[in-house]
Amino acid sequence: MTWQRARRRSRSLPNWTRSREITSSMIARIHDSEVRLALATAETDALRSKLAEARDTARRDVLTGLPNRRAFEEAYAARDAKAGPYCLAVCDIDRFKRVNDIHGHSVGDRVLTAIGQAMAAECAPHLVVRHGGEEFAVLLAGLSLSDAAALLDSVRAVVAAKRFRNRETDTPLGTITFSAGVTAIHAAEPAEAAFLRADRLLYAAKEHGRDQICAG
Ligand code: GH3
Ligand code: MG
Ligand code: MG
Repeated sequence: MTWQRARRRSRSLPNWTRSREITSSMIARIHDSEVRLALATAETDALRSKLAEARDTARRDVLTGLPNRRAFEEAYAARDAKAGPYCLAVCDIDRFKRVNDIHGHSVGDRVLTAIGQAMAAECAPHLVVRHGGEEFAVLLAGLSLSDAAALLDSVRAVVAAKRFRNRETDTPLGTITFSAGVTAIHAAEPAEAAFLRADRLLYAAKEHGRDQICAG
């Protein structure tokens, strides 16, 4: 019964009965509103968590589970001068095509994931992303160029010391290494310019024999 109907009907009733009916009708309405509010709140919470999930998915690489290029671009754009100086490293797995050619693409995928995860763990809290293919980018905050290069070199040594095996055949995959170019990011420098420098240094590291870090 609506509150208005309850009021009309209650005009013919004694005062105390009328007031009791009006009160219970209002309590019922309050209860209804509370139920509707709880449902709407639950729906909003579910939508919020779906939105957060979609945002995270858009910034994560499906194969390795690492953040992706988009996450890097956002972190690069959001650099905070107080947390600097910043350095950029571009890392590329050495002779990775061989791993695919000899052991197959799915073994290659697993190696790529293991190396990416190892890099992320060793570089934490700095941001490591899969930048594409068998290439990873690292955004290092609060380190000088020489400290950033030293950190990358310790990651290089950890990866080079890993002993990968083919899960299906149990054959060793041999040593898998990566090379990297590391550069200091200048204030207000566009990402493309820093990447160009890091890429040139990476190329030099490859030219000088791979499994090494070139800083500049
Ligand atoms: P370099 O030392 O000069 O970097 O040699 P490389 O063999 O690593 O370089 P190249 O660019 O010739 O080959 C890169 C290889 O990485 C070829 C490509 O198939 C492989 N690759 C890229 N993305 C993936 C991936 O998602 N999964 C697998 N399994 N392989 C990938
Ligand atoms: Mg490579
Ligand atoms: Mg490459």
